[in-house]
Amino acid sequence: MVPGIRLVVLGKQGAGKGTQCVRLSHHYVVPHVSTGEMLRGAVKSGSELGAKVKETMESGDLLGDDLIMELVAERLAEPDARARGFILDGCPRTIHQAETLASLLDPGDIDLTVDVEVSTNQVLKRLAARRVCVDCGTNYSVSAPPRMNWTCDICGGEVVQRDDDTEEAIRRRLDLYERQTAPLIDFYDKRRQLSRVNGVGSPEAVFRRIIRAVEDRRRRWGGGHR
Ligand code: AMP
Repeated sequence: MVPGIRLVVLGKQGAGKGTQCVRLSHHYVVPHVSTGEMLRGAVKSGSELGAKVKETMESGDLLGDDLIMELVAERLAEPDARARGFILDGCPRTIHQAETLASLLDPGDIDLTVDVEVSTNQVLKRLAARRVCVDCGTNYSVSAPPRMNWTCDICGGEVVQRDDDTEEAIRRRLDLYERQTAPLIDFYDKRRQLSRVNGVGSPEAVFRRIIRAVEDRRRRWGGGHR
């Protein structure tokens, strides 16, 4: 049996995190916990939470730490995440979120943080071309569209450009990333919980690099926390 994992995946928006997280979740048989997906789901369902976060999300700003960590705490308390772990995508985005995550998991901890590294120029190009299924969140791009007429290959949903993938919002998110999220790389590096992975190449090649980083970590540290 493949052992479970508690993995945080970091990287600029457009670094290919979403694609890698779906693969990792299947490989390790753990839930893919994406704060962005949870929030977009709330907006789509028209819930009270959705109405509260819609405007901030569309502007590309970050939501408050307390709201985010409450959502994450609830999700990580569910039986699947408790039993085998999780792939955490889009969170933490600030040091305060990282500290809250550590205290949520205490006396355990995450096994590893993987930083998927891609240059800003490359990311800007990828984001401008990104398209996403409104129903299941599968990512496509202008150069690799679904097989039929912007209809999702997986679920038949409509494939569109995300509301927050406008150039202005993209620049704001990359700027926020530099200011608020990049320090997390230092945070996890100091805790010896960081592995940097080159995010350039085919999804398969990047996936293999991440698996190798996790296996290296397990060999060195003797199997993680479960
Ligand atoms: P993403 O799909 O991860 O790019 O998230 C889309 C949007 O959701 C972000 O631009 C933020 O407005 C919000 N969001 C998602 N995760 C977080 C987080 N950990 N902290 C604050 N805001 C978040």
